Amino acid sequence: MRTLVIDHPLVTHKLTALRDVASDTATFRSLTAELVTLLAYEATREIRVQPVSVTTPVGIAHGVKLARPVPLIVPVLRAGIGMLDGMTRLLPMANVGFVGLRRDEESLVASTYADRLPADLTGRDTFVLDPMLATGGTLTTVISMLTNRGAASVTAICLLAAPEGLRHVEEAFAEESTAEDGTAEPSVRVVTAAVDERLNGRGYIVPGLGDAGDRLFGRI
Ligand code: URA
Repeated sequence: MRTLVIDHPLVTHKLTALRDVASDTATFRSLTAELVTLLAYEATREIRVQPVSVTTPVGIAHGVKLARPVPLIVPVLRAGIGMLDGMTRLLPMANVGFVGLRRDEESLVASTYADRLPADLTGRDTFVLDPMLATGGTLTTVISMLTNRGAASVTAICLLAAPEGLRHVEEAFAEESTAEDGTAEPSVRVVTAAVDERLNGRGYIVPGLGDAGDRLFGRI
């Protein structure tokens, strides 16, 4: 498993404004979309492409187009939905699946309540959208759901990560390797704008940005 922290002044600028408790819902939503598009630019660096030639007004140009099957974007309900616009802006041709996990507030253990994913993901690049990588329980479950269905790669895009959560995911998907039958294991990556200090006793990232779902969609 690889972690990529995007060290870019525009990313840090937008993340800082996003963290600000004074940012209202409208500002929070548009900053989230902009930040995701910036993270997605790096997150798609290894996306599969195939060679293609096009006729320009003055000749033939050799380039690439995204390979088939098209990528799958998987926002984790509810907060991941707030990241979808920013992601489809870069990958408008992608399919979208949905996963919902509920976190028990006492044990912090996650259980699945929605699974709208294709049964077969063989050869597909997949992108998980979850703003906060906190304990890592949710992300580990979602990555396993995708790799168990044959995904070629899983890239999680998180606005923020806690060291505890990154460790959890790293332990679950330790090394890129070759399976016993000789086939390559799927590549697993986490792309984030920052790794914060720690989790607090309620599983919130410190200093973080609070409850991402509530800040995007309001408290229910
Ligand atoms: N989920 C959130 O929305 N915020 C956190 O800080 C941790 C998990």
